[in-house]
Order: sequence, then structure tokens, then C-alpha cells
Amino acid sequence: MQPQSYAMSPREPKVIMPRLVLHEDAWNMIQAYVRTNPDTEINGFCYVRYVAGHNLFFVASSDDVFITEQTVSPHSADASGVGYAKAQYNAVMAGREDELRLQWHKHPHDVYCSPTDMRNIENFGLTGEWIISLVVNIQGEMHARFDAFQPARFGGEMEVTIHRVIRPDLTDRAAREAAELVTIKQPPATVVTRPARRTRGSKTAKQTKEQ
Ligand SMILES: [Zn+2]
Repeated sequence: MQPQSYAMSPREPKVIMPRLVLHEDAWNMIQAYVRTNPDTEINGFCYVRYVAGHNLFFVASSDDVFITEQTVSPHSADASGVGYAKAQYNAVMAGREDELRLQWHKHPHDVYCSPTDMRNIENFGLTGEWIISLVVNIQGEMHARFDAFQPARFGGEMEVTIHRVIRPDLTDRAAREAAELVTIKQPPATVVTRPARRTRGSKTAKQTKEQ
């Protein structure tokens, strides 16, 4: 399911970087994991879907975010081989192996891809086609990058945003209260004392069109 819009060849150097959009439930789930052990790193995965018409990757729900077995410290979170194999096993069992394309991890402070992160990305490229890497912190900051390895090496930072949704019960309550409490002020009616007439020197529609 490799998107075509960033498939890069020597004849096609212009690449439009896809965006990453997290549904707020997915973002909340990541933040919930991040807060389980405030003083250590943690890493996990997301299922992503490519939305071709908008050139973006979307993480659609909290169910699309998960973690696996790992060993963590204040400055590292090493996904064990067993953990990554379990993630792939989960994906295959769910029929979603093509969507298992995002790895995220927490940093204690600044969000960026460290030299270690970049080495891990390159190692992934030895066997994988492409991957999204997301770095988050407990303050809610995010940094994402996209790396493709086939058919050509291509990578860079992605814009990442949260898709916020107003809950239907809040929408309903606001509508009820607004209907009762809010009056829309009507603009004063324009009083026309005589018909507006075009003056002799003004342009007609026909003249304007001919210019
Ligand atoms: Zn890192």
C-alpha cells in the first residue's frame, strides 16, 4: 500500500511530504502511556492509514495505539525483539500488517530524532519499505518524520496535527442553550430614499468585460 505521491525516482524529484494526523483519542492514548512512568521513556506502535486524496497518514482511534514488552530507563526505551515480533504478530492476526508503519517513543525533554533514533530508522530500512517515526514528550510536544527506503531513499520531517472532535453531547448541550439564551442581532435595514442610478461616466458591465 505504498502511497504513490512520494514514490521518488530520479525522473521525479519533486516530492510532497505527507502529513501525519492523529485523532485526539489516539493522541490521548499515547499521552496516557507516556504518563504511566513519568520519569522513564517508553515506546509503542500505531496503525496508520494513508488518505491519498489529502496526502496524509491518519491514526484513527485509541485502539490503533499499543505498546509491547520493553525495557526502559530515563533515557532509553528498547523494544525487545520479542516485543517487535509481537507487534507484527498482532498486526498479521488483525489483517493489518500493511498499517503497522508508525513507531513512537517518548523523550524526557526535547522532541527530535536523536542519532540513536536515526540509526534505528536506518536499520529498519534494511528490511522495511517505509516508516513513520514519532517522538513525543510529557508536555504533549511532537516531532514526526517519514522515511522511505524503496524504491529510493527519501526522508524528512512531517507536519503532525491532532484531529480534534467535539463530542456530540457537548454539541447538543450548546445548541440547546444557544437556542434559549442567544439572540442574533439583525443588521439595521438599509433605507433607500431613491433608486441608485449609474452616473454617465461609469463603466458598464459590457465595457468591463471588453477590457
Ligand atoms: Zn529518541
